[in-house]
Amino acid sequence: MILGMVEFARLADLCRRLRTSPGRLDKLAMLADYLRALPPDAVGPAVAFLTGRPFPQSDPRVLGVRWLPSLTDGPAAATSLTLGDVAVAFGEIAEAGGAGSRRTRDDLLRALAARASADEREMLQRIITGEMRTGVSDGLVLEAIARAFAAPLESTRRAALRLGDLSAVAVLAARGGAAALTSASVRPFVPLLPMLAQIAEDFEDVLEAHGGTSALEYKYDGARIQLHRDGERVGIWTRRLSEVTRSLPDVVETARRELGAAPFILDGEVLALDAAGRPLPFQELMRRFRRVHEVDRLVREMPLTLYFFDCLMADGRSLIDEPYASRWEALTRVTGGRHLAERLLATTPEVAREFQAKALAAGHEGLVAKDLRSTYEPGGRGKRWFKLKTAETVDCVIIAVDRGSGRRSQWLSNYHLAVRDGEAFADVGKTFKGFTDRQFIELTERLWTLAVSDDGYTVRVRPEVVVEVAYNEIQKSPTYRSGMALRFARITRIRDDKAPSQATTLDELSRLYERQFATKGRSV
Ligand code: AMP
Repeated sequence: MILGMVEFARLADLCRRLRTSPGRLDKLAMLADYLRALPPDAVGPAVAFLTGRPFPQSDPRVLGVRWLPSLTDGPAAATSLTLGDVAVAFGEIAEAGGAGSRRTRDDLLRALAARASADEREMLQRIITGEMRTGVSDGLVLEAIARAFAAPLESTRRAALRLGDLSAVAVLAARGGAAALTSASVRPFVPLLPMLAQIAEDFEDVLEAHGGTSALEYKYDGARIQLHRDGERVGIWTRRLSEVTRSLPDVVETARRELGAAPFILDGEVLALDAAGRPLPFQELMRRFRRVHEVDRLVREMPLTLYFFDCLMADGRSLIDEPYASRWEALTRVTGGRHLAERLLATTPEVAREFQAKALAAGHEGLVAKDLRSTYEPGGRGKRWFKLKTAETVDCVIIAVDRGSGRRSQWLSNYHLAVRDGEAFADVGKTFKGFTDRQFIELTERLWTLAVSDDGYTVRVRPEVVVEVAYNEIQKSPTYRSGMALRFARITRIRDDKAPSQATTLDELSRLYERQFATKGRSV
């Protein structure tokens, strides 16, 4: 059986059954049975259609139509369409793009629909609009692929991250099983999910996790890009893998003129600078990313600066399984040393702190610390990459305190911190960090005088002492009444100059929380 002979009606029938069976496991079994029975060359389009896509994810073609034209010429055909017919017709429709092509596309669609049964027409309509309503997520299809072709879920998932395309994963699995998935390679113009960084508190932890040496780089507060080039063809993707090539002709130009060793894939950050050379806010930069018309004017108004920090492919060879040290070498080769992130190899916390001070003085967000031994893990957020940002501070009120344990059992040492919420106070975290022994003793004495209750472990106090608290991130938290928690909170000083009524408010904290996303590029 070949692609041309696989009935489209079978897929329509599967989707109808998927829609009526609520259980995830049932759906999984149906999908796996269906995929297993297909000839390998039908698997690609089948997976695309199943996930509501006319073309596989890494296929750049678009249909350019949003609905089936209504059919006036007679009843639905007796079913005869094959998956191949539909794939070919979609290809022709995509090719017919361009000015004045509306009619051609409509005609092609009408011809396709005229050959379809009522069920098949409904199925076509769903694929065109991307609304399958089968309750089948990409994740479930991934599991079904693993099950259908007896491949471990982990290697299937890994291949999906590398190839960025479920159809490609399914075809590989169908043809070569688990072994083919394990060796799935990185390809130009198939973007990979970017590797992410975990937040770290201090350089001592970072150096330990990285075996004594860390590659420190400036953390630029711009937008992440992945740049691919093969010959004269260039493609650019954002952190969320939306393609922005058309909006960034200047970056395309740089890729063609200044970068070598193609085919290559580079990972980096792009920044927009104002006339004085200072980074523009993220929202401004986003105007560049979104612009698809009259791009040239904005290119002149808002020049971009590139900082590359990783190389996932050079000379057509995938480097993601190489250690970061070698990837950086390749990056220097591709760039000839231009457009590189500022970088330093550090082995002591003192040197690291100095470099961080330099980054901050230059107006950047902080540092990213990377393990030179680590491979590139698409989509991974772990200890291989740490981000160290400047701590922000808020003024909190101490509302309770836990008795210490061990050496500190005599002291009240785990402070419950709160922000103002109208007349009341809302918890945002606890900390025992930031004080010398002497300061602990002094504060303990003071807090005992403010005690209002004591359950043997936690002593509640009148909310009078204001402290400045440094933190690295604000997180949503169901644990606290405020709904938020300060990550890595530590007390930096006691603010005796401030009354509790002058402490940070819950509203202010919410705004600080929101601001984290505004500048972090999560929206692209
Ligand atoms: P965050 O968004 O706070 O999780 O920080 C991670 C982001 O920092 C990455 O996704 C990049 O966009 C950005 N970044 C800036 N400079 C670097 C760098 N040198 N290495 C890695 N990521 C960087």
